[in-house]
Amino acid sequence: SSPVCECHSCYGGPDCSQFFPSCSANADGGDPLFLEPFWIERAASSAVVVAGWHRMSYQYSDESFISKQLEKHIRKLHSIVGNAVTQGRYIVFGTGSTQLLNAAVRALALPDDAHNYNASPPAPPFSVLATIPFYPVYELQSNLFHSVDFKFEGDTSSWKNSSDPASSKHVIEFITSPNNPDGQLHTAVLSGPNVKPIYDHAYYWPHFTAIPAPADADLMIFTLSKLTGHAGSRFGWSLIKDEVIYQRMIYYMTLSSMGVSRDSQLRVLKLLKVVLDKGGRDIFEFGHHTMRGRWQKLSNIISMSKRFSLQKIPPKYCNFFKKNREASPAYAWLKCERKEDKDCFEVLEAANITGRRGSMFYAGDRHVRLSLIRNQDDFDLLLHKLQSLVSEEDGPE
Ligand code: PMP
Repeated sequence: SSPVCECHSCYGGPDCSQFFPSCSANADGGDPLFLEPFWIERAASSAVVVAGWHRMSYQYSDESFISKQLEKHIRKLHSIVGNAVTQGRYIVFGTGSTQLLNAAVRALALPDDAHNYNASPPAPPFSVLATIPFYPVYELQSNLFHSVDFKFEGDTSSWKNSSDPASSKHVIEFITSPNNPDGQLHTAVLSGPNVKPIYDHAYYWPHFTAIPAPADADLMIFTLSKLTGHAGSRFGWSLIKDEVIYQRMIYYMTLSSMGVSRDSQLRVLKLLKVVLDKGGRDIFEFGHHTMRGRWQKLSNIISMSKRFSLQKIPPKYCNFFKKNREASPAYAWLKCERKEDKDCFEVLEAANITGRRGSMFYAGDRHVRLSLIRNQDDFDLLLHKLQSLVSEEDGPE
């Protein structure tokens, strides 16, 4: 029987078949429920049963907070997918990649005599930067911790042209590749001996992008949320080249949460065993097929429009699928082209579509991000509403 026992909020009646036409399409948020059908098909093999006495301790038998078994499975997964080099890298687990983002900033920004608390912070502090449009948590977290060691300073572009070049200042650059919100593969914009990159590879999986080469930066962050869809298990990991940075991140994890829940680690291990089963291809075939199909359907509708446009993602050779492949991004980065449609979010809201404002990604309100990774009902409803909106257009301007 189906595990889904409630109707989608847009449907009602005894068998959920009654559609409420006035209902609004939710394309906000990054909940990756497009993978739910994959796990429903594997409900039994992916289940975890934990006896009450199991794994009660703070520590594993090697006195660490990190499951060696799980670490081994993560390394194997990267080597099958070919999306990251793990040889010569340490691994730190985090409560979602969210926890690792700040652990990484702090580790990179700390002065060399970090554990001497009388040591003076570098003057000025590290500038934390990202390239517009970027994931807002980088700024929000940096501001939240209000550290003397680092400060969020916005977009990289002003630093590229600045008379005070990044090469003479201490900089931490966040690179999101593929990018949230626009799905583009990125490399660092800034360079120089004092620039320290953090690569956020949350979406660097074959569901969402071609994998042109294994990523091999010094500090890379991944998350289970966009790999298997288990955002609620709150699990992410970082691959780190430098031992000092690794030790600092472990220190952070120890003091902020004593590591990741052992129950979560157990569940993640089970999920990855299923992912790796039969050569580790099924989830990526499923993920790519789903996301590619969604992007094609959306592109077909928007191609009929003069009012809206989508980001262009060029086809690329994918080392995982061993062929050239077209785009299948996690989000649509929709643009309102008409002069009068200055607030694209409002335009969509009026048509009962809720996206996320472009200004949330520091890009201005001509853009709206639409999530394509929600469940099938949400996606179908989004298409339905967009189709009506586009068919109402007056024809060529
Ligand atoms: N980085 C990016 C670019 C994201 O889009 C997200 C989630 N939307 C995260 C990090 C955080 O994910 P989590 O904490 O679930 O691992």
